[in-house]
Amino acid sequence: KDEKLQAARKPQPATKQLDGYVGFASLPNQVYRKAVKRGFDFTLMVVGESGLGKSTLVNSMFLSDIYSNQYPGPSERVAKTVRVDTTRVLLKENGVNLTLTVVDTPGFGDAVDNSNCWQPVLDYVEARYEEYLNHESRVTRQLPAPTAVVPPSTQPQAPLDGRVHCCLYFIAPSGHGLKPLDVEFMQRLHDRVNIVPVLAKADTMTPEECTAFKKQILQEIHQHKIKIYEFPDSPEDDEDAKQNAKLKARVPFAVVGSNTVLEVEGGKRIRGRRYPWGIAEVENLEHCDFLAMRNMLLRTHLQDLKEITSSVHYENFRCRKLATLGTETNKSTLSNVNPLAQMEEEKREHETKMKKMEAEMEQVFKMKVSEKKQKLKDSEADLQRRHEQMRKSLEQQQKELEERRTQFERERLSWEQSTGVTIEELRRRSLEANSK
Ligand code: GDP
Repeated sequence: KDEKLQAARKPQPATKQLDGYVGFASLPNQVYRKAVKRGFDFTLMVVGESGLGKSTLVNSMFLSDIYSNQYPGPSERVAKTVRVDTTRVLLKENGVNLTLTVVDTPGFGDAVDNSNCWQPVLDYVEARYEEYLNHESRVTRQLPAPTAVVPPSTQPQAPLDGRVHCCLYFIAPSGHGLKPLDVEFMQRLHDRVNIVPVLAKADTMTPEECTAFKKQILQEIHQHKIKIYEFPDSPEDDEDAKQNAKLKARVPFAVVGSNTVLEVEGGKRIRGRRYPWGIAEVENLEHCDFLAMRNMLLRTHLQDLKEITSSVHYENFRCRKLATLGTETNKSTLSNVNPLAQMEEEKREHETKMKKMEAEMEQVFKMKVSEKKQKLKDSEADLQRRHEQMRKSLEQQQKELEERRTQFERERLSWEQSTGVTIEELRRRSLEANSK
């Protein structure tokens, strides 16, 4: 709706009909040719305990021995501490170049104490962002196009974009859910890199076990609020979109890898694992989700993975970095926090503080009102008491006066009787004597 609204607000240029063919209709072809010429790059990180089939899977994904020359065999890769190794190869398919960087993390989860073993991985991811940010901030920027690789031979100064676009996290096929290390790793890295969880060595589980295990993993991921990479719905035509939705429903992908190409009936050559009871085919959607994963990662969503890396994870890194540069004083607290989250947190804190203050003021006000009420009540009672006292004393005085008056009357009467003279008579005589 909003888009429509915006489109309606924009002044629309007048549409003109061309009288002939000008040529810009082939613009898409130009862009396509240029992109193909430049080639593409993709950085894939694989994380998981050793022996879960990471290198085998990468080889199976790119149908090539990516690990064979540059990379030592499994026995030599057993490390006491976590290392981060990168292997870069140039792959060609139908004239399109893909510079693939595989980042492996030998030693991850292999020690007795695996606490903090996610740290070197996190450091690596952040270091690549840092590198990119430094190039971006130079006066003369030497950035590679964010989506395409410039081969070193043609543009020697342009560095490769080393940012990690996708992290395949290998979960052991234990059937018992996520390990604490799995949870910790994904929680530490989920806002720094696109995490795609995979269930390793799916051929060791029956289909029912696999479905139940997937359900459990998804439930735990949800429960621990882990944000794995969400495959967006594909913008292609309906049939493709339906197909993609089906593939998407397979997350977390249960995968099988193999370095062996087997010859099956009809001379067909397939990658698979041969067992006495049959063959587990790598590229068979009825046997595992390998094909779904490879299609989603490389065919339909490679560009989206790169865009999310650039627009979400790298932008978050940049914000964190700028925030730390801005406020040297609280550097340590901000360095690991998303500034937006920090602002949100501060806002929440402020609101809580205000609410607390409000409650306190309310409390004080109530106390003051009740104190005043009590004081008024007390003084009212006091007045009442004093009024009562006054009334009583007046009544007493009145009574005494009454008594004294009665007494006086009695005395006067008895005096008049004894002397035979009334008081009025006596008063008259005294007045006469005075006048004489
Ligand atoms: P990494 O240490 O994680 O790179 O593991 P590797 O790729 O070196 O594989 C370790 C072992 O597991 C090798 O013997 C592989 O042949 C085997 N392996 C690899 N992928 C699979 C798989 O999907 N299923 C089974 N059953 N075994 C596998």
